[in-house]
Amino acid sequence: MNVFEEVSAFYQSYRGEKRVIGYSALDRPLYAVFVGAKTGPQMISQYAIHGREWITALLSLYHVRRGLARGGAWVLPLSNPDGALLSEVGAQSVPSECWDFLKEVNGGGDFSLWKANAEAVDLNVNFDADWGCGASNVRAPAPENYIGPAPFSAPETAALRDFTREVRPDMTVSWHTKGEEIYWSYHQPRGRRLADRRLAAALSASTGYPLVKLKNSAGGYKDWCIKELKISAFTVEAGSDELRHPLGREALGALIGRTVDALFALAAAKK
Ligand SMILES: [Zn+2]
Repeated sequence: MNVFEEVSAFYQSYRGEKRVIGYSALDRPLYAVFVGAKTGPQMISQYAIHGREWITALLSLYHVRRGLARGGAWVLPLSNPDGALLSEVGAQSVPSECWDFLKEVNGGGDFSLWKANAEAVDLNVNFDADWGCGASNVRAPAPENYIGPAPFSAPETAALRDFTREVRPDMTVSWHTKGEEIYWSYHQPRGRRLADRRLAAALSASTGYPLVKLKNSAGGYKDWCIKELKISAFTVEAGSDELRHPLGREALGALIGRTVDALFALAAAKK
């Protein structure tokens, strides 16, 4: 089974509350499953918004099974199914009419390092938070860093925006690979910065990953949650930097070992 089939099978068999929150550019469903209780702190934890980081989609299933100390979480295992399949499976995962465009953008037929969606938009710079101001942003279709023609131009980011606005969580966590770092800041005012840093410290204690202030990011889901929704939001870069992209299934055990308690610990720390 490929990563999308595994996540789909998990979703079909999941007995708790669940939803399809939208569809990808190639019409693949964007799944969400609910863990825990509707009372207490609420969070959204989303995974694999970057294609080549698809291993985090499988990690999410272990976070669901682990559960939370208190409160509830909507877990979104695979925010970018088309990009994940491009990385894992290759061009045969997309309709043949897309091949010319994608191979030209990619500069060849090896899509293993592809990060974007099937429209060659990097979803994690497509959010409306200082959109287009990131240091690495590019303005034409590319395997990574293309901001898209407008904020929320991609159906995947529009779905994530609408679902997050509907749920109104207290905090969000975004799972990426790699580097073993946690990002938690985005120009918060001082009071919120102290509260967010305290929660980030709980994530750090649970995973052993240090907190890092990321400079010059913009347009990400975490950035948008902090700036527009004014909630706590964290990005976790799971996996050792010594591992090579894309992280394969052989890396999953190590990722689980370091992060399986992360959401549990974060929920416990939220006041
Ligand atoms: Zn990433």
